[in-house]
Parts: sequence; structure tokens; C-alpha cells
Amino acid sequence: MNECSFCGRKKNEVQMLISGQSGFICENCIEQAHGMLKDSTKNAGYSPIENVSEIKKPKEIKKFLDQYVIGQDQAKKQLSIAVYNHYKRLLHARDENREVEIEKSNIIMIGETGTGKTLLAKTIAKELNVPFCIVDATILTEAGYVGEDVESILSRLLMVADYNVEKAEKGIVFIDEIDKIARKSDNPSITRDVSGEGVQQGLLKLLEGSIVNVPPQGGRKHPDQKYIQVNTQNILFIAGGAFDGIKQIIEKRLNKHAIGFRTEKHDNIGEDEDVLKQINAMDLRSFGLIPELLGRFPVITYLDQLTKEAMIRIMKEPKNSIINQFVELFRMDGIKLVFTDAAVEKIVDETVEKGLGARGLRGTTEKVLENYMFSIGEEKEITLT
Ligand code: ADP
Repeated sequence: MNECSFCGRKKNEVQMLISGQSGFICENCIEQAHGMLKDSTKNAGYSPIENVSEIKKPKEIKKFLDQYVIGQDQAKKQLSIAVYNHYKRLLHARDENREVEIEKSNIIMIGETGTGKTLLAKTIAKELNVPFCIVDATILTEAGYVGEDVESILSRLLMVADYNVEKAEKGIVFIDEIDKIARKSDNPSITRDVSGEGVQQGLLKLLEGSIVNVPPQGGRKHPDQKYIQVNTQNILFIAGGAFDGIKQIIEKRLNKHAIGFRTEKHDNIGEDEDVLKQINAMDLRSFGLIPELLGRFPVITYLDQLTKEAMIRIMKEPKNSIINQFVELFRMDGIKLVFTDAAVEKIVDETVEKGLGARGLRGTTEKVLENYMFSIGEEKEITLT
């Protein structure tokens, strides 16, 4: 009887047996081969770095970020260095005779909402051509409580990596709102703090680089579920948060130092930004992040509040700036859309009032263009003043 030349199943055991010149193939083997083919094309363009010279230097990485993110030079610089070192570390880890272990440079970014934290993380992932996912720390809970287990973070990463574990293991995870899982009081809790400290503890094992059992579908772990094992050693974690009130904490520390060391007392601590520049792990600890967690985020950076000038540049300059996006939308209908400087300024002023940071720019622009979009096709050229 005919049988599949690949798996040996007999004709009566399969639905279809396709004959070739000197053999047969069944539907199961076709599907398997198809899967393998898809995987290999998916991985095309993703080639592991072999040599330090192949890694983009921090200055080049920053230049790439400059195309998409306005301002935030300090954060861009630190992120570029961290990513460069991260890739050097991956190379180094392959050297079996290594004597020095280089540790990971996970990053915490501090900055108000809409200042570009997520955008920075997203852009870096685009540049590196690695899987990237965003998770909100507030949905995570300690194992055993209502909410998602920390492992669900990796489920998402796996999902965006099309379940290619090797690819996911080199990805970037952005944990948003990390400040929301701060310990609520300065005292180590006697009663367990479900939403805060417990989650921080849970995150430790992902951050330190270990093999984690991940439920493929995310959500809760379930005893009957099959797990996928993911090694987090080479996953770069970037955490972001607004850390409301951190400025007062830094100020307090600076004043304390001034007294403690009998140096000149900081009477006027200066503008917000000067204070924020001095942020360190101690302040984040006072805010309520546990020392073990902070130890795994060696790079701490801050994002400036966006000025009106920066918001105007955000409207105009990035590659996919809001203006470019809408001009393109109208161009598809053969309509020339022009934003005058006055119109841009008006949009920015209105957005600043809403207090949403640059995040609100798109919404305001949508509103301004609403009627034009509704009656699109009636005019050939539109100039916003
Ligand atoms: P955050 O994560 O800090 O709350 P996002 O990165 O999500 O803020 O920013 C929201 C949106 O605002 C972005 O998608 C982008 O369009 C715009 N934006 C914010 N900051 C910048 C920036 N520095 N440069 C360019 N665009 C920005």
C-alpha cells in the first residue's frame, strides 16, 4: 500500500496522499513543511550579530531616535548607550571562555504622561528589528490574586514574535506605569500588599534572567495548560512612569545632604528640570520601589516636560509627524492641505490647556479638521490659519 515518504503513514491513515516522482507526501507533512517554510522566511532579515563592528554605535542609534522623537536628549543618549551595551553583552555571552559576566542594563524612564517614553521604547525596538511589547504594570497582580500573573508579560512578547521563542528571547518589553506598583508606605509591609510590593517581587524573576514557564495565551496560569519556556536573560526591560511627587522626594534628599555634609545649603533648588536631573535610585526607593527591583534597573533616566516650542516641533518634524500624516490623508483624495504656523500654534495652545502632553496633539488636530474631513472632495486646497 502507498504510504507517506516523510512520516510513513499509510494511505488509509491520512486524508490525502500526493504522489511525486518517486514518493508520496501526506497532508500532515505538507502542513508541517509549510510551517517550517513560514518560520524561515519570518526569520529572514533577523540575523544574529557576529561582531562588535556590526552593532550601531550609540551616536548612530541616537541619530535614528532623533528622526522620531523630539528633544529628550539625555534620555536618548542613555537609551542609546544601554542598547549598545546590551548588544555587546549578547555577543560576549556567546564567548564560552569568558571570565567576566556583563550584567543587563534595564532602564527606568521617568517623565510625565505624553512626553515620549513609550515612543522612545517603540522606536528603539523598530531600529533593532526585535519584537517589542508594552504592558501596563497596573494589570499585574501577585500570583493567586485576581488579575494577570507577571508571566503574561512574556506571553505578549511571544505573541508579537509569532511564537518564535528564540526571537522573543531577544526582544524588548516596555513596562508602563511602573510607579503604580510602588509600595504604598515607606515601612516594609507586615500585611501583604497585593497590588504593589507583591508584583515587584514577581517581576524580579523576569528581570534577573531566568527560565520562566509562560502560558501561551497569557492571563492566569492554569494547571492543565502547556507552558512555553522562555529565557529572559537577554530580554531588555524598559520601565516608564510619571512618578508624581518624585520632585519633592529629590528636593528633600538634596536638602538633607546639604545639612548632613555641612556644604552650602540648597535654598533655591532651581527649576524642575535641574532637580529631576539629580534623580537616583535612592529617590525611587523612597517612592516605594523595592531595592531588589531597583538593583535590576541600573539605568535611570528622566524625560523633560515638553515646552510649547517642543510641541510645535512634534507637530512638524518627526518622520511621521501629525502634519505629515494628515497631509497624506488629504493627498489621497487629491487635496492639498496646508497648515500655517498660526494654525499649528493654535493647535498646540489648545492641547497644552488639556494637559495631555504631546499625546493630545492628534486629538486636537482631528477636531480642527473634522468638518473638512466630513465634506472631503468639495475643495481642492485647504489652508488652515
Ligand atoms: P508617554 O509614554 O510618555 O506617556 P508617549 O510616548 O505615549 O508618552 O507619547 C504619546 C504620543 O505623543 C506619541 O505617540 C507621539 O505622537 C507624541 N510624542 C510625545 N512625546 C514626543 C516627543 N518627544 N517627540 C515626538 N513625539 C512625541
